[in-house]
Amino acid sequence: MYHFDNLIDGVWQQGEAGEFSTYDPSDTSRQIATYSKCSESQLNTACQAAVKAQKTWWRMTHTERLSVLKQYLTRLEENRENLTKAASLEQGKIHPESNGELTKALNEARAMLRESYQVQTQPMSAQKPSTINTIMRRPRGVIAAITPWNFPILTPMRKIIPALVFGNAMILKPAEVTPAVACLLVDAGVGIFPDGLLQLVNGEGRGIGEALITHKAVTGVTFTGSVDVGKRIMQLASQNLTEVSLELGGKNAVIINDTDNLDDCLNQVVGAAYACSGQRCTAISRILVAPSLYSPVIEGLKVRLNKVVIGNGFVPETTMGPLSTVNQRHKVLSMVEEAKKQGARVVAQGPALTPAQQEQGYFVSPVVLEVDETMDIAGSEVFGPVITLQKYDDFEHALTILNNVSYGLTSALFSNDNRLVQRFIMESESGMLHINHGTVPDDHMPFGGIKDSGVGAYSVGASAANFYTTEHAVYNKFQ
Ligand code: NAD
Repeated sequence: MYHFDNLIDGVWQQGEAGEFSTYDPSDTSRQIATYSKCSESQLNTACQAAVKAQKTWWRMTHTERLSVLKQYLTRLEENRENLTKAASLEQGKIHPESNGELTKALNEARAMLRESYQVQTQPMSAQKPSTINTIMRRPRGVIAAITPWNFPILTPMRKIIPALVFGNAMILKPAEVTPAVACLLVDAGVGIFPDGLLQLVNGEGRGIGEALITHKAVTGVTFTGSVDVGKRIMQLASQNLTEVSLELGGKNAVIINDTDNLDDCLNQVVGAAYACSGQRCTAISRILVAPSLYSPVIEGLKVRLNKVVIGNGFVPETTMGPLSTVNQRHKVLSMVEEAKKQGARVVAQGPALTPAQQEQGYFVSPVVLEVDETMDIAGSEVFGPVITLQKYDDFEHALTILNNVSYGLTSALFSNDNRLVQRFIMESESGMLHINHGTVPDDHMPFGGIKDSGVGAYSVGASAANFYTTEHAVYNKFQ
């Protein structure tokens, strides 16, 4: 059992606005943690501390900041066991996935530290005599980070590291479903960072989350989560004209047109679809298949779904954990039922749940549904272990289906035909495009989407500077 309060100005302070608890999604009778909620007056103290800490932090040299951040990453590596255990306990994902999540977060963080050197003040040509013009980058200031429950290690880290490396302070409000890892992450910074530089407030999005976004001291809001909340945050942030970065959902498709190795292709697709029980914004959730491969793809999916082992994420044999919340399970099951009513056909499915699994946790067995574009599920994000399958007539048709959704996060194509690859690169409406592999992002490549999948969300690699810094035109005339 854990208990966490709110980290304000370097000290854990009991929240003045009540308490909440979290439970194991594999066995909902088991309480995992209790938390105290931050009040608005405590938030105010945190904001004042952040403004002060940010000034101190920015006056340090870039090299000094890097050295402090490297110390922080070393401490996180030392805390691997605690961090990954807390992630699997509260979120439900299998423990090897939590381990992989921390490894990825640390690799991205190290890449971010390296790439931060590329973000320099740029000398510009001057139109006036005896003048040097430069474009200077400064930290944006105090960043509010609102994070979701599906990647409790990686998502906060993707915000903390770029914010701090570019000289900002951060106040983190983690999802109420999985705050334990975020609390451990900020706790690891105590004694390493100046007090107030990295703080955490617990509580509901509509309560302390909104108070944080609209606080005058906050100059940037980075959010990962649902489209509806993203829109609300953008509206709230507009009150103070605060800059936002939104990383929202996806309805990511893979086109399987031709491949030399269908086995390898399907392993990658199934991995990208069902990791984290499908609760990933970048999960492949639509498979679009050429007519010649339709039957072999269905057969291959059946074999793979038969092998899924559903259960508690700490049991070594388990390959798929539960969904994280009762709402998520309800949403996924209702969408599948509605799809069946609209004519969707189950073409592959995972093992039936045992009575104990149905009673104790939020388990959902994976399924592949044959659908057509008229069905709601063909265009709506499910965020669970559900793949929709469609046969296309020709590549033109595949591209039309691919782009005919409101989202634009990731897409993938399996093909050795160079003309098709080029068309895909030019026409796929998504922020991240994958050719001949699944949807695994690299440690230093921009991460984000277009359309309903986000706004200015490029939080990985040097392009993170676009959100975490502001540009200033400096005209320096010699006397
Ligand atoms: P959500 O968007 O409601 O919550 C994400 C975070 O936003 C949480 O920290 C929450 O406290 C906060 N929040 C909620 N309302 C807020 C408000 N008005 N102001 C400020 N902060 C607020 O996500 P959810 O309800 O947990 O999940 C719903 C759906 O969102 C899922 O089914 C899935 O489709 C999508 N989702 C996407 C991602 C992603 O990685 N893009 C992650 C989680 C959920």
